[in-house]
Amino acid sequence: MNSEVPESQKSTCPNCSRGQMQVFYTVQHIPVHSVLLMPTRERALNYPRRDLKLGFCPKCGFIANTVFDPTVHEYSTSCEESQGFSPTFNAFSRSLAKRWVEHYDLKGKSILEIGCGKGEFLVQMVGEGMANGIGIDPAFVPERLNVSSPDRFEFIQDLYSEKYSHLRADVVCCRHTLEHIAPTADFMRMIRRTIGDRSDTLVLFELPDVFRVLTEAAFWDIYYEHCSYFTTGSLARLFRQTGFDVLELDLEYDGQYIVIAGAPSLSQTTVSFSGEADLEAITDEVARFPARFADVKRHWLSTINGMRAEGKKLIVWGGGSKAVSFLTTLGLEDQIDYVVDINPYKHGKFIPGTGHAVKSPDSLKDIRPDCVILMNPVYESEVSERLAGMGLSPKILPV
Ligand SMILES: [Zn+2]
Repeated sequence: MNSEVPESQKSTCPNCSRGQMQVFYTVQHIPVHSVLLMPTRERALNYPRRDLKLGFCPKCGFIANTVFDPTVHEYSTSCEESQGFSPTFNAFSRSLAKRWVEHYDLKGKSILEIGCGKGEFLVQMVGEGMANGIGIDPAFVPERLNVSSPDRFEFIQDLYSEKYSHLRADVVCCRHTLEHIAPTADFMRMIRRTIGDRSDTLVLFELPDVFRVLTEAAFWDIYYEHCSYFTTGSLARLFRQTGFDVLELDLEYDGQYIVIAGAPSLSQTTVSFSGEADLEAITDEVARFPARFADVKRHWLSTINGMRAEGKKLIVWGGGSKAVSFLTTLGLEDQIDYVVDINPYKHGKFIPGTGHAVKSPDSLKDIRPDCVILMNPVYESEVSERLAGMGLSPKILPV
């Protein structure tokens, strides 16, 4: 299999086709998958690796891994991407479902979710009053779905493509999926084509915001599966360039996620949200990122190595992609004892790349860590309550 990306595709922006991608951040030999469960430490250590070279398009502000190789991915039911085990994330996604259903008057209507994962959000949308839902995702696991009215759902274990254009719905929803797709404009145009002349279709997307990643040098939010990185502005520009109007453009979940609503449009639409005028600001932040990243990396290495030199026990809380990126980018090995995660499906497995074991929070009662590095600050109160409940009071360092 030839995995080389042709030179021409490397440099032209896949979002707008107008700008040339300018590389500003490189990480070498990172695991190609960070949510895939590793059954043994050996497999985790030997997992396939590739390079990541983030490029920036000065014309539309889009950011992407310019050497991304989609052929290495194995999206399957062994993907443990679900955040549905966290009460904080559940509360957020429930309130989003409730708000969308109320605001857009979706009671009694149908929804198609592209990249539905294990189906939790689809169930929440129907729970808020939508009539029925169709979910498509290669990682869907039927046994994990527990609903009282299964006849209102249809799930397809596959990647969405034009062959599913016959699936009609009042709402097309796509959460935490577009960042995994390299030909972003092609994907949006495909959705636009499948909607056709049904102009009252509502399009709802949610995905990570890269602006915050740039300003905080939050390098743990940059990993191989995410080949495409958006700000509110670059996402809105993509919507408008591919035949959609923008109805809503917000940052949610402590500013980590962009929430956008759109509707098909037959004519050119005009910029109407303050979040769309960000091209100059992204250009500035991209220029500052390399120096800022070097500072943040130095800070973490000196903190961790310093505590380790004093004989302190350190664990990482959160065994998802952020942890994989944090551990591999910093090159951490035995400075970290292991990784804790609340998702029971991850326990007994290993972190791809560095091979750290993933254990349950209850295991902390035995090792009594001195420091917990928390991969997502949004979970700080949830985690500190859980630790206090076990009689533990380690230092919590949120990234
Ligand atoms: Zn562009």
